[in-house]
Amino acid sequence: MHILSKSTYIKGLQCEKALYMQKKHPYLRDKLSIEQRAKFQRGTDVGVLAHEVFPGGIDMSPNSPSQFPKKAAETWQNLNSPEVNVMYEAVFQYNDTLIMLDMLVRDGDQWLAVEVKSSMRLSDTYYNDAALQYYVLHGCGVSLSDFRLMYLNPDYVKNGSIDVKQLFKMESVMDYVIEREAFVSENVERLKKVVALPHSPLVNIGTQCNDPYPCDFQGHCWKLIPKNSFLFTTAMDDDELFNLYFNGVNSNAKMLSRLDSDSLEAHQVEALETNSYYIDYKTLYTLAPQPKPKSIAYLNLLLHRLAVPEIDGTKPYEELILAFALQSEHEPEGCFVWDCFENHGLWKKAVDILIEKLSHYELIVCFTPQNLTTTLLRHEIIQNKEVGYKVFNLFDVLQQAHFYHPAIKRGLTLQRLETALFSEPKLFEHSRILLEATSNDLIGYQQAREDLVAENEIVAKTYQHLFK
Ligand code: SF4
Repeated sequence: MHILSKSTYIKGLQCEKALYMQKKHPYLRDKLSIEQRAKFQRGTDVGVLAHEVFPGGIDMSPNSPSQFPKKAAETWQNLNSPEVNVMYEAVFQYNDTLIMLDMLVRDGDQWLAVEVKSSMRLSDTYYNDAALQYYVLHGCGVSLSDFRLMYLNPDYVKNGSIDVKQLFKMESVMDYVIEREAFVSENVERLKKVVALPHSPLVNIGTQCNDPYPCDFQGHCWKLIPKNSFLFTTAMDDDELFNLYFNGVNSNAKMLSRLDSDSLEAHQVEALETNSYYIDYKTLYTLAPQPKPKSIAYLNLLLHRLAVPEIDGTKPYEELILAFALQSEHEPEGCFVWDCFENHGLWKKAVDILIEKLSHYELIVCFTPQNLTTTLLRHEIIQNKEVGYKVFNLFDVLQQAHFYHPAIKRGLTLQRLETALFSEPKLFEHSRILLEATSNDLIGYQQAREDLVAENEIVAKTYQHLFK
């Protein structure tokens, strides 16, 4: 049986304890968020489509982990069979390290190794992945003509059925993976020893808990850290916070004693101590719309980006408007809702409706991490910035006014804002609305519409709370 795999190796590079926990105590892992689950599914869907670039291969995917030895043996038989030219998810094991390679393609007397990524650019993690796979393939004695990473071509425009050869780009990483082989070898040996330890390695919490990825054992490792610890502040970066923490500043009182009482960090720690939130009201009020608008509408856009474009004329991850809710006392029943959940091809109709609807208001209030004006310009809902209404993005305004609450350490979301300002139970998550809206399920669509409206009501309530 193998000790390391691609995912556990990458985990071990981030933190030895995370690797140990994954191998020995996986049940202590935090639950996957909806966004993480969607990301995994997206990766699987793109990987299957990529097979069409080298069609007619044999799929070696095991049905369960117990099949790995059998599939590894079959992979070897196929390597030596002149009948087999392409394998998907071929299984190899070397030095207790198991990999499944997305595609292995016969290339004369050698093989071309291809690993597929569902993004439009390559990251360090992808290069590390490839280096581990090369280490195993080379260790197994597979002669490679090249090792390539395949990823989505940002310039591809769908026109009719998907042209997979145009949809994907490939980049050779052969030189890189050869150069990294010694590094991988050292790390494999080191990480195997970690897994063999009789107990979890002593690793303190630190910057590695979120870098490069949020670790899914934080619920376990951070459980002794008080929920209102200064480690959850955002005014200082994590390097500074942990530096202080490991040098004896291990309580909010000690932290406060070192800070200028008017510093942002001190205000954040005080918010933690009083179980409250912090806003720089002076800045907030300078940002308030002036003069007071006579007519306000609250806009909640549900945008969607598909890795593989489904509508002609669109590119990978191109943004389309899947739905919107526009709340105002001037709208019939207080809120106008539009969506194209059942036929995404109709999404451009949103543009005409929004051009007409928004023109009736002086102020459009929203809450989005995106620049809404840029989004409206991109979709030509506004042609230039000289329209009759102003866009007021609460997300930007709150950031500029240094809004802080411990929950926003993981990012400012409407759900967290609602908890901070109104201490009400969390009803929804924006990513869940998107999931419902793309569920191919009428009940899901209805739920998405209701949540879109409910979310907009929080935007309206927040604006009124802060500016009226
Ligand atoms: S939470 Fe931090 S210390 Fe704990 S396993 Fe993860 S990265 Fe390591």
